[in-house]
Amino acid sequence: MKFELPQLPYKFDALEPYIDARTMEIHYSKHHATYVSKLNEALENYPELQEKSVEDLLKNLVAISETVRTAVRNHGGGHYNHSLFWQMLAPGGSKIKGKVLEFINNNFADFNSFKEIFTKTAVGHFGSGWAWLVLEKPGKLKITSTSNQDNPISKSETPILCLDVWEHAYYLKYQNRRAEYVDAWWNLVNWDFVEVLLS
Ligand code: MN
Repeated sequence: MKFELPQLPYKFDALEPYIDARTMEIHYSKHHATYVSKLNEALENYPELQEKSVEDLLKNLVAISETVRTAVRNHGGGHYNHSLFWQMLAPGGSKIKGKVLEFINNNFADFNSFKEIFTKTAVGHFGSGWAWLVLEKPGKLKITSTSNQDNPISKSETPILCLDVWEHAYYLKYQNRRAEYVDAWWNLVNWDFVEVLLS
């Protein structure tokens, strides 16, 4: 079975003005699509790996033959991370409430402190990568970042929120101003989906 590009849950221009339509179009139909096709290419001669979910592959990278491990890590990671990222965005965002808010307030001083640390992590990550809020263990949240297409599930952590800080995610509109992109992104977070991941 081949891995497939999931459908984008909204139109390319739905996240304007925070993320522009052209960036979304290239990001989804070129970057994400390429991770999917390169993953399929890499696994062409590994039918037993094609049967697994991308999550299962990433959770157990050491079990994968060294000849394709790096390809799975990079392209499988790219496929998994972007699939998650699209779902964490919604046109106009959604209001943080209920269980997620309570969880964040319990793990950080308050929502604003959480936002400040997450922003700092995303803006300060050197080079290409991702900022994450993860469940480190039951009840314990942690803010972290990964390079390239690495992700927390390979370290047995559960992603709750992620932000792509590769330049391809923002360069057309924001050029080198990553901090502006991160500020804008807060307006798009789909907290309802985050809540689903927490439960
Ligand atoms: Mn990306």
